[in-house]
Amino acid sequence: MKNFDYFKPNSLKEASELLLKFNNALIINGGTDMVIRLRNELVEPEALVDIKNIPDLWDISEDENSVTIGSSVTMNEMAHHPLVIDSFKLLCDAVHYAGSGQVRNLATMTGNICNASPLADTATPLLVYEATVLAYSANGEREISICDFFKGVRRTALEKGEVVTGIKIPKYTEEKGLFKKVSRRKEVDLSTVCASVVDLDGNIRIAFGSVAPIPLRARKTEDFLKNKELTDEVIKEAGRIARTEVSPIDDVRASKEYRLDMVELSVVRGLEEIRGY
Ligand SMILES: Cc1cc2nc3c(=O)[nH]c(=O)nc-3n(C[C@H](O)[C@H](O)[C@H](O)COP(=O)(O)OP(=O)(O)OC[C@H]3O[C@@H](n4cnc5c(N)ncnc54)[C@H](O)[C@@H]3O)c2cc1C
Repeated sequence: MKNFDYFKPNSLKEASELLLKFNNALIINGGTDMVIRLRNELVEPEALVDIKNIPDLWDISEDENSVTIGSSVTMNEMAHHPLVIDSFKLLCDAVHYAGSGQVRNLATMTGNICNASPLADTATPLLVYEATVLAYSANGEREISICDFFKGVRRTALEKGEVVTGIKIPKYTEEKGLFKKVSRRKEVDLSTVCASVVDLDGNIRIAFGSVAPIPLRARKTEDFLKNKELTDEVIKEAGRIARTEVSPIDDVRASKEYRLDMVELSVVRGLEEIRGY
């Protein structure tokens, strides 16, 4: 592994200035992805900026319309927090299936999405909730819709110097549906396919992971379902449309054909759950 400078700033401003100062500085948060990438020399930064000393990033807070999860809150903290348990069932399920207990003690949801893997488990719930990524830079702050956040494999909309401070999720009155993770093993395995299929206050939203270069919403399927009764035929047709919205590949985890079948099945099971079987 190549040598690099290590910094542990106490403020967002300091962290952002370090990211702006170096040509190739990277953030480390829980480190569950980053340490592996460093060890395998998949990244060779000049500097590593550890953000865990920054106090502003450790809170889960709410206002009337949303809940904000600070970017250094671990997955285990999230999954046991009443605000998250009460408001976001799919997200809790997704977190529950990510990695192992040890991994979840370190891993953060922000790291999960900033890593921008197509199979990040928390991406599909955040897509259906239409969450907002909060970014800070010494040059200014901005909000990025999660629907515009993923730009390619390991590429996000973040710009140089930006640190994600948290993820803001709108509150919904009623949530029905499911998060489905298909993997080779029941626990501690990455998704072969993951999906969120949900009815949020009367709007059906669907998102998939691991079946395209980025986690994505199934907009055509959602449009097809608008104002339709969930009959058996409608549900079957929705599953068939969903197959046309993804572009999976064959890899060590599964064939393209198997992934397409799992996409269709996830939609059918999710819509049946929403309908109440
Ligand atoms: C054994 C094992 C099992 C796993 N199983 C799963 C699984 O089942 N499902 C799954 O989805 N993932 C899994 N993972 C992957 C990993 O745990 C998650 O992606 C994790 O959520 C990453 O969070 P982190 O805080 O550790 O991020 P880090 O490793 O610290 O960072 C990941 C990336 O995000 C960037 N980043 C982090 N925080 C910020 C920020 N605030 N602002 C801007 N950029 C930031 C970093 O620069 C880096 O590029 C597994 C990992 C391991 C080691």
